This record gives sequence, structure tokens and C-alpha cells, in this order.
Amino acid sequence: MKPSESLIRQLALLESQSRILEPESSLRDHWMKEVYAYSSQFIDSLEKGPAFVEPEDGPEPMPFSISDHPVPIEDVLNEFDKQVNTTGLNPASGGHLAYIPGGGVFPAGLGDLLAAVSNRYAGIYYASPGTVRLENFLIRWMCSLIGYPSSALGNLTSGGSIANLIAITTARDRHGIVGDKVPQAVIYLTKQVHHCVQKALRIAGLGTAVVRYVPMDNQFRMDAGALEKQVAADLEAGLSPFLLVGSAGTTDTGAMDPLDKLADVAGRHDMWFHVDAAYGGFFILLQEMDSLFCGIERSDSVAIDPHKGLFLPYGLGAVLVKDVEALHRSHFYQAGYLQDVIDEASEPSPADLSPELTKHFRGLRLWLPLKLYGLAPFRAALQEKLLLCRYFYEKIRELGFETGPEPQLSVMIYRFVPPSAADANAFNARLVEEVRKDGRVFLSSTTIDGTFWLRLAVLSFRTHQSTIDMCLKVLKEKIEHLQA
Ligand SMILES: *Cc1c(COP(=O)(O)O)cnc(C)c1O
Repeated sequence: MKPSESLIRQLALLESQSRILEPESSLRDHWMKEVYAYSSQFIDSLEKGPAFVEPEDGPEPMPFSISDHPVPIEDVLNEFDKQVNTTGLNPASGGHLAYIPGGGVFPAGLGDLLAAVSNRYAGIYYASPGTVRLENFLIRWMCSLIGYPSSALGNLTSGGSIANLIAITTARDRHGIVGDKVPQAVIYLTKQVHHCVQKALRIAGLGTAVVRYVPMDNQFRMDAGALEKQVAADLEAGLSPFLLVGSAGTTDTGAMDPLDKLADVAGRHDMWFHVDAAYGGFFILLQEMDSLFCGIERSDSVAIDPHKGLFLPYGLGAVLVKDVEALHRSHFYQAGYLQDVIDEASEPSPADLSPELTKHFRGLRLWLPLKLYGLAPFRAALQEKLLLCRYFYEKIRELGFETGPEPQLSVMIYRFVPPSAADANAFNARLVEEVRKDGRVFLSSTTIDGTFWLRLAVLSFRTHQSTIDMCLKVLKEKIEHLQA
């Protein structure tokens, strides 16, 4: 027997088995219908459903398993429903008023589906010019929002943390901070900067650089005068100030650093000025915000999160960088096995502007919602979130709560100080715990300079006035209950 005959037989057998991976259209339709029906029912349940569900005491959850045999879609969805899409926080709910919500607009899911099915290669221009053109277009659109020149570009990332990391890495290289220069290099932040910035500094090898926590004003905004003094003192001491990180909307309180003044200081001392606008960035779509954002156009880089301010599902951030050459120098690499990639292209490739090579075509999940809705409803929703936060600010004071600064964006802090309570911090910790157990809305807390605060973060597109009224009602019930 010729060896090739058995080989042919084996191939035929394997082909019949592996062809299962390409289902008939009837099976595709069936799966689609079932997944769509589940999704649709899920969305319809959100309005009345809880924002948080405590795990029940009881037996350990069933272990997940995978075998050689197929499982019907109904059973898989059932397992997903029971074992995954169940306890804990429901980030799709409008009652999610903690951390930084977003919500997950539906067309983003369709974008992900198209990206997965077409599986266009989003890393290199030569491999898929249209894909890269679309992603670069979306990045340039965001650049134009913040007032960067048309030569600016950046990268679509998985989120704000990676966006900040890419910016910091670029700043480090642009200023040649390596080896024994690291301990001399100075970075300026406030204590309210998002912790992913400190994480990024460490990952980028700047863990031994000097970090200055610049004092803040009574609204938790960086004090530009104090910054200038600190930079002068550091120069006097022979150190090298090189990086200033401002926040356009801090996570804790929604504070906007005085970007214009920070840009002045950075400019005077030739520092890289990075703005973390992961939370607040898209409020720039509202004209009334112009003065708060003034100066962001003079920054060197910005991190901004469509999965927050454009209500996309988790998995899309962006870094925008003015000096694309610097971004490129930090991230490109010419690999031998990619030698036939002709890239004298007019469009820079994402693979040369980020640590990623093969990546999710994540631009589609942004493009579809923007196209299908147009920008107007996004603007309206952002304005609604601002006003809802102000509405809550007034109402919660009427309930006798103490508040932090008047909200600049859609996040604010507040706490209840009961006349009888010896320990207000403990009271508020119990309050947030009670709200969590109740589950109708979900709130989080923070501690600033030893004071325990509750936070309200309004950014889900599903949060409306009725949600905030519900939140006020729950808080009122819980303080009465705790004081009884
Ligand atoms: C959420 C947030 C981050 C981190 O972004 P991820 O998308 O969660 O990685 C960074 N900075 C600020 C101000 C944020 O609100």
C-alpha cells in the first residue's frame, strides 16, 4: 500500500471532523437567534432589575468544564446565565453609580460581532488598509476633539491603563530617561491621580524616579503655583523635571486640574505634559465645558476612554499623542519574519505605535454606535449626566448630607454625619454596605485624608432622573434604618 493513500484517507476523515468548525447557515441562524433572544431579554430586564446581587450562601458554584463533545447553545446560555451573568455588580444597569460606569451601548456588540466574523487584521496597514484607515480616522477624530493638530495620532487600546502606560513610555524615551538618569528624573502628580499612573511608572522602569505629589486646592485640583515652586526647587537641587501628569476628571471626585496653567508650567520647563482624561475626556463634546478643558490642546499626550464617556462596553481606551515620531520610536520593531511587509504606507500601522502586534479590530465597536446614532444623542446623554450629578448634589444636601466640592463633572462625594454618631467614618462605611446589600442601586466609597466619603458617579447612558430619585430614596431609607 502506498503511504500516500493512507494519508489521503486520514485527511478525508480529519476534514469531515474539522468541517464542523464551519457550521451550515441554519445552525448559525439558530445560534444567532438564541444569543439575540437572550441579549434582548437581558436588556429588557435592566430597567427593573438590581444593580448589585449578593452571592448567596450555599454550595460552591458548579465547576466549569470542557469536553470532546458539543453542547447545545441553549445549555451554554443557561450556564452563562446561572454561573456568569448573575451575582456581583451589573455594569449594564443604570443603577450602577459607582467607580466609573459606562453601560455598553448595543451597537458596539454588533461592531464586535462584525470584527470577529470578518477577522480583519488591524495591526498593519499593508495587511488591511481599510481597517487601519478606519482606526486611524477614529483616533484623529478624538485628536480633533481635544484640539490636537492633524499630524497627531495615537492608538486604540484595551482601556485607560494601557493608554497611560503607552504615553508614559513615550515620554520616558522622548526625554532619554534611562540608566542613571532615572533616579534624577522628576515626575509631578497629585495624590488624586488614578493609581494606574503609578502602576505604569513602575512598569515603565521609572519606579526609582522622584515622584512629587503636588499640593491641591480645596477642590482636589493641582495647585499650579505649588507645582511651579516645586519644579524650581528640584532644578535648584540638580534634578531633572521631565513629566507632568494632570487629570481631566479625577476618578475620586471628578476634579479637573487647571490644564491651562499646568501647560504653562510644563512649557516653561520643557516637561512632557500628559493628561489623564480616561474618565472626563468626552465631556469636551459639550461646548459649555470649553473653559474647563482649556489647555488640554497644549498637552503632549492624552488618555481617553470610550468605554466610559462614550458608553461603550469594556475594552476600549485610546492614547492620543502629538509627537507621533516619538510614539513610533518607542514602539516600532522590524522583525525578520515580517520583512515582506511593505510599509511605506501613507498610514502608520497600529503595530508600530503600541506594544501589540495581532490585535482585536476594536475600532468597529466605536464606529458602529457613532454611525448608527450620530453624535447628538451622545452629547445629550453627557449633558444629562452632568445635570443629574448637580441634581443629586442639591437633593442630597436637602437630606442633611455633607457634600464635598460642587461637582465639576458627573462624580461627587458626600457623607452623612449623624448627630449621635461618635464615628462618622464607620457610619458611612455601614451605609454604603447597606446600599450594596439592598442592590437597587450600587454605590462605592473612597477615603480622602482619613475621611470616609460615599461617591456618586453618573456615567451610564441608562441612568436617568428616576434612577437618581431611587438612589436618594434608598439612601434616605438606609440612614433612617441605621439611626433607628
Ligand atoms: C478608569 C480610569 C483609568 C483607568 O482606565 P481603565 O480603562 O480602567 O484601564 C485611568 N484614569 C482615570 C481617571 C480613570 O477614571
